Amino acid sequence: MDVSSIIAPLNDAQRLAVSAPEQAMLVLAGAGSGKTRVLVHRIAWHIKINHLSPQHILAVTFTNKAANEMRGRVEELLNISARSMWIGTFHGLAHRLLRQHAKQAKLPDNFQVMDSDDQLRIVKRLLKAMNIDDGKWPPKQVQWFINAQKEEGIRARHMAESGDFYQRQMLAAYKAYEELCDRSGLVDFAELLLRAHELLRDNADLLSFYRQRFQQVHVDEFQDTNTIQYAWLRLLTEGNNNLFVVGDDDQSIYGWRGAKIENIFAFQKHYPGHQVVRLEQNYRSTGHILKAANTLIANNDARMGKELWTESGEGHMISLYSAFNEQDEAYFVVEKIRQWIKDGGLRSDAAILYRSNAQSRQFEERLMTTGTPYRVYGGLRFFERMEIKNALAYLRLASHHDDDASFERVVNTPTRGIGAKTLDDMRLLAREQSLSLWQASEKMLAENRLPPRAGTALNAFMQLILQLGADTQDLALYETVKRVVEKSGLIELYKKEKQDKGETRVENLEELVNAARLFDYDNQNDENLSELDMFLTHAALEAGDMQADADEDCVQLMTLHSAKGLEFKLVFMVGMEEGLFPSQQATDDAGRLQEERRLCYVGITRAREQLYLTHAESRRLYGKDNYPSPSRFLREIPPETLQEIRMRANISRPVAGSGASLGSLNAKSGKYRMGQSVRHEKFGEGVVLQTEGDGDQERVQINFRNAGIKWLMLAYAKLEIV
Ligand code: ATP
Ligand code: MG
Repeated sequence: MDVSSIIAPLNDAQRLAVSAPEQAMLVLAGAGSGKTRVLVHRIAWHIKINHLSPQHILAVTFTNKAANEMRGRVEELLNISARSMWIGTFHGLAHRLLRQHAKQAKLPDNFQVMDSDDQLRIVKRLLKAMNIDDGKWPPKQVQWFINAQKEEGIRARHMAESGDFYQRQMLAAYKAYEELCDRSGLVDFAELLLRAHELLRDNADLLSFYRQRFQQVHVDEFQDTNTIQYAWLRLLTEGNNNLFVVGDDDQSIYGWRGAKIENIFAFQKHYPGHQVVRLEQNYRSTGHILKAANTLIANNDARMGKELWTESGEGHMISLYSAFNEQDEAYFVVEKIRQWIKDGGLRSDAAILYRSNAQSRQFEERLMTTGTPYRVYGGLRFFERMEIKNALAYLRLASHHDDDASFERVVNTPTRGIGAKTLDDMRLLAREQSLSLWQASEKMLAENRLPPRAGTALNAFMQLILQLGADTQDLALYETVKRVVEKSGLIELYKKEKQDKGETRVENLEELVNAARLFDYDNQNDENLSELDMFLTHAALEAGDMQADADEDCVQLMTLHSAKGLEFKLVFMVGMEEGLFPSQQATDDAGRLQEERRLCYVGITRAREQLYLTHAESRRLYGKDNYPSPSRFLREIPPETLQEIRMRANISRPVAGSGASLGSLNAKSGKYRMGQSVRHEKFGEGVVLQTEGDGDQERVQINFRNAGIKWLMLAYAKLEIV
C-alpha cells in the first residue's frame, strides 16, 4: 500500500496531524471537521508507513456504536482485520484488562459486572442491613456518592472519618459497599475504570508490559474524559509522549457525570513538546446547517473558539415545525420519514434525536403503526422499563389473579415483608397441587400455614389487589391505570429514590397513564377483549420483538447524548421546548445551560443534508398538560437558515376535553373560530380545532364526531356553522 491512499483523502491540516512524527498530539476542532477520520487514518499511518504491528495500537472512544464504526473504518481503509487492535470503549477495555489479570486486580476469576440498576439494588439491600433509614438516605444518593468518589479515584480508605455527619454516614455506606462487592466478586461500571487504573499503577511489571504493548494510544471525544480515565491514559503514555487525542470543547456534554473539560489543559501541561492541530473545514453538513450550529454555539462563553466553514453549498434550509401537540409532532416526523423512504432514502440515514428517553414512546408507536422498522439506542424502550413492567403487572394481576409472572413481579414490590421462605413455600405448594400462586396463597392463608407476620403481609397484598380490581371495575381505561399506579405504592416507592432515576421512573409512570388516555380502542379489532386487556396486549407486543435487529435497515432513535460522533443524512431534533430542551434544571443554572447549548450544537451538527426542528405547542408529558414556549435555542438560530413549515401565529390550541379556555386566534377569514361547531354535508357535525393559511389556501382542522379529525380547504369544503 502506498502513502497516497492514506493521505489523499485528507486536507492539509488533517495530513499534518496524520503524518506527524511520533509525538503527543491534540487535534482540537469543531464537529464534522474530520477528527475521527484523522484518528482512523493516523492508525493506518502507523501500521502501513511506520510498520507498527496492529497489536501495538490502542484506540478508545465512548459508545459501543462509535467504537464499532471506528473499527469498521480502520478495516476498510487497510483491508485487514482489526481484531488484534484494542479498539473499544473505556469500560470495555478496562473490562478486558481486568479479565486477563483478575488475580493481580484482586478479583475472583468469575467476577460479575453489574449495571447501575443492579448496583442500586445492592445499595438498597445494604442500607437495610445497616439499619440506615432509606427515606433519609435515599439509596440513589448513596449510589451517586460512591460513584462520584470512584470517578475521582478515591477509595473509602482514602477518606477521612472526621467529616460531618453526612460525610461519615456516606463513608460508612461506601465502606460496607466495597466489602460486599469484594466478598461477592461484583464490579460496577465506575469500579471497572478505577480498578483498571489501580491494576496498572500497582503492578510495575504489568504497567511496563502494557506501555510497551500500546506503542500508540488514540482517544476520540477527549473532551468527555473524567479524572480516572485521564489518569489511566497518563499511566500508559506519560514520558513516551505517544498519546494522540482528538476532541472539541464545544461538544463536552458529560460534565454532569464527572467529565473534565480541564483535561484538555492538563494534557497540554503533561505532554511537553506536544503539537496542536486545528481543523476548520466541515465535511459533514451543508451551509445552512453549519451556520445555524456556528451561530448557536457563539452564545456560550469561555470557548476555545473556532469557526467552521464548508464548501458544500447552502443546501436545504432547516425546517421548523410547530406541532399542536406531541402526537401531531410524532405524526409529522414519521410522515416525513416515510416520504424519505418512498423517495429512495435509507431508513438508517434518518434519525430522531430527543433530550429525554421518555419522549421516544410517541415516535415508537407511530413508527409501529405505520410498520416502519426502527431501533432505539441506549435506554430501554418504554414498555420494557422496570417501573412500567411493574405497573402493568399490577394491572394484570388485578384483573387476572392467576397470572403468576405478574404475581412474582409485584408481590414484594414495594417490599412488604413477604420473605423468601414464604415465597418458596408458596411456589412449592403451587407446584405440588397445580395451583396458581394466587390460589396457593389463598390456601395457605385459609389453612393458617404461615407465621403471623408473613400471613398478615400476604393478606394485605391480596386485599390490595382485590380492592384494585373492585375499585376500577367501572372506570375508564386511563382512570384504571391511574388508580392502579397510585394505589400500588409504586409512586411512593420511586419518589423515595431522590436522584434522577427515581424522578424519571415517576415521570414514566405518569406517561403510562397518558398512554392509556390516548390508547385508541377503536383501532384495535378484537371485540372479545376488554379495553384493559387490549391495552395490556398492546403493551406486551410493544415490549416484544417489534424492534428491528441492529443490522437491519431501520430508523434510528436515540437521545442527543448518545448521538455524539455519529452522522445522518436526515435528522429530526424533537421537543425543542423550554423546560424540555433546555431542561428545567438548566434554565436557572448558567453552567448547565451552556452544557445544554453544547448538546444542541451536537444535535444540529449530526445532520448532513436535512435538519428538522420540531416543538409542540401543547405537550402532555409526565402526566401533565403543558403549554411550553419554544426553546430559546430556536431563537439563537439565524432566521435566514430557517423555514417554518406551519406558521405558528396561525395555530391555535386544540380544545382540551377539560374545557380549557378557547384561544382568541381567529381564522383569517374571521369566519371560523376555535371551538366553533360546524356541519359538513358528508362528515356531519364537528368542532373547529385550528386554522391556517389565508385566502385560497385557508384550511381548517375539524374534529368530526363520527369521521374523526380532518383538515379541509375552506375554498372547497361546504361548511355550515351550527
Ligand atoms: P464529530 O465532532 O461530530 O465527532 P468529526 O470531527 O469526528 O465529527 P468525522 O466524523 O471524522 O468528523 O467526519 C465528518 C464527515 O466528514 C465524515 O463523513 C467524514 O468521512 C467526512 N470527511 C472528513 N474529512 C474529510 C475530507 N478531507 N474529505 C472528505 N470527507 C471528509
Ligand atoms: Mg468524531
